[in-house]
Amino acid sequence: MSARVTAILLAAGKSARMGFDKLTLPFGGHTALEYSLLAFLRAGVEDIVIAVSPATRAHAEELARRQACENRSIRLAEGGDTRGDSVYNALLIAQGEVVAIHDAARCLVSREVILNSIAEALAQGSGVAALPVKDTIWQGDEVLRRDSLLAAQTPQSFNRERILAAYTYAREAGISATDDASLYCRVYGTVHFTQGSVRNQKLTTKEDIPLFESLLGNRPCRTGYGEDTHRLAAGRALVLGGVEIPFELGLLGHSDADALTHAAIDTLLGAAALGDIGAHFPDTDPRYKDICSLELLAAVNALLREKGFHPGNLDATIIAQQPKLAPYIPQMRESLARVLCCDVDRISVKATTPEGCGPEGALECITVRCVCSLEVEANGL
Ligand code: MG
Repeated sequence: MSARVTAILLAAGKSARMGFDKLTLPFGGHTALEYSLLAFLRAGVEDIVIAVSPATRAHAEELARRQACENRSIRLAEGGDTRGDSVYNALLIAQGEVVAIHDAARCLVSREVILNSIAEALAQGSGVAALPVKDTIWQGDEVLRRDSLLAAQTPQSFNRERILAAYTYAREAGISATDDASLYCRVYGTVHFTQGSVRNQKLTTKEDIPLFESLLGNRPCRTGYGEDTHRLAAGRALVLGGVEIPFELGLLGHSDADALTHAAIDTLLGAAALGDIGAHFPDTDPRYKDICSLELLAAVNALLREKGFHPGNLDATIIAQQPKLAPYIPQMRESLARVLCCDVDRISVKATTPEGCGPEGALECITVRCVCSLEVEANGL
């Protein structure tokens, strides 16, 4: 799906009703813009354009750098004077068959709302998240028929070529529309709606802040534990955390026997209560013969994100008599962080010698023990 979809995150508004930049305001360690970005990444959208203002540019650049990952593109577009100008500028550099246009201030958006909107646009050309209206709406002294009313949210997803043509036409004809759906409907005569969510609120005024703080500020966290031991043997490479370490002995196993990565995998699976490494990657399966264990970690990371979890932090201790591991630890941390798509400061790797005690001390094996925390996706609760 990801190759066919570009998300456009609108972060170029003036926050006029807030009085300060609402998208860079932190809740529980992240900003509204970051929550929105994470929601799309967790929905499997890997091509993202953020329309920025001078007030949000630096933060968006920092997020793009922090979330950089292989096969992922996060680019910035210059915001315009109006929402429509910002969308148009972003559309010019979007590449997907479908674009999912989203107000970054709707930072509680769930994976499900995003996927519904995109699926409808892939099938029908448009998919706009919307909700039936619960309140009684008055216009002048007349009550509007509630069963005919829908409140449009975002994402609003469209075939890119069609929505770009609509915007180009609107600019030439001097037409302004409040959102993408109304413009699309005006040009093409119809628009498809998908199920929005009550939680998919827009952070708009100062009065909204306590609601968002209560929903995003106290996110549940889960803890995991994992442990792995591999026997040391001659004629094998010693690989820990994806880093090959020169030594006369290496670790024996069906895969590359990377005990650090295996312990990390078991820790993460444990925190999510998703079984263990053996259940996911059986050592009887020829597909995993000599495989680089970082590939298995990448698969686990994708599974966790699909289930609404992402790594909080991870702390591992390698118990090895020899060799000296300290020089290789920065590389190990970097490679694990790269695969887990998180900051390196969330990944800790330590090494200890067992002072000659036990099988590790006798150079029979290396053992790794690891704990981690997993943050539960707030947007999906
Ligand atoms: Mg193992």
